Amino acid sequence: MSHHKLLIIGSGPAGYTAAIYAARAGLQPVLLAGMQPGGQLMLTTDVENYPGYKNGVKGPEMMEDFRLQAERFGTEIRYENAVEVDFSQRPFTIKTDGEATLTADAVIVATGASAKWLGLENETRLYGAGVSACAVCDGFFYKGKDAVVVGGGDTAAEESTYLSKLCRQVYLLVRRGEMRASKIMQERVLKTPNLKVLWHTETVDILGENHVEAVRVRNVQTGEITDLPVQAFFVAIGHQPNTEVFKGQLQTDANGYIVTRPGSTYTSVEGVFAAGDVQDHVYRQAVTAAGTGCMAALDAERWLAAQGLH
Ligand code: NDP
Repeated sequence: MSHHKLLIIGSGPAGYTAAIYAARAGLQPVLLAGMQPGGQLMLTTDVENYPGYKNGVKGPEMMEDFRLQAERFGTEIRYENAVEVDFSQRPFTIKTDGEATLTADAVIVATGASAKWLGLENETRLYGAGVSACAVCDGFFYKGKDAVVVGGGDTAAEESTYLSKLCRQVYLLVRRGEMRASKIMQERVLKTPNLKVLWHTETVDILGENHVEAVRVRNVQTGEITDLPVQAFFVAIGHQPNTEVFKGQLQTDANGYIVTRPGSTYTSVEGVFAAGDVQDHVYRQAVTAAGTGCMAALDAERWLAAQGLH
């Protein structure tokens, strides 16, 4: 069993940024990088909207830069997952799948969220080659082209209206005869001339050799099959925050996201802070995750100092 002042769980932009700040503040943080070090950006190809990379950067390359920067200031990175936590008493206890038990005076949770996928084979194969789960990240690459968006919630409404400003034609596939999205978002969708809602429609397959070339859809009422010639396929059926291991320990909202005190990274447990997509279902950007990672490190450092622990 080893004891640490600060343990950071998660290795996306939020976790690494928290580590950079905490390490430079002399907290000697330990970061549990998990099974998918680097988080969602490891699945991304080009990132063109992260400030500072004027020519863009590949997602994995950027996360390597984050990691090296965190290590440069003395962050200890362990390639293990947290499998059990006890936040009911201090110091907090964290067990890992590397069979380690760690204790920490403060914890930053930055485990992110994962996009939900339809589960089609070609969805995985063509990921990054027309298939995406983030319009803000990848929409720009399909300027003037045609795209399909799948989903009927606020995310789908938002992604499809965002894309309609860039793409020539956007098809929104809604599997039922109504959308789950808020009224105002639905109205926006229905009012957009180059955004066509295909009701009662599901995805059969995504076609294309090296890149998305068409999407095969089926009207579930009539059984009719159609191939939509598009170059992009955006899945917008929701995200799953990675909070399973914190169930019952931290307050979460109805969708499982960790609740933080507005304007801060404080969670329902004093000494535990949350940053990045695990507590943000609105912005979900690398730069906003990094921003809240910085906030979490500053909150943790000040909290530890106030406790006389740093
Ligand atoms: P939701 O769970 O609200 O909606 C998911 C949608 O995807 C539903 O319409 C669902 O269909 C559809 N869906 C699920 N699985 C499949 C599938 N396999 N094939 C086809 N369609 C599928 O998720 P959201 O991400 O849209 O929203 C999550 C939360 O975040 C909500 O509370 C939302 O209000 C909030 N949010 C708010 C925003 C804002 O205010 N600006 C922006 C984005 C999200 P069905 O309805 O048939 O189940």
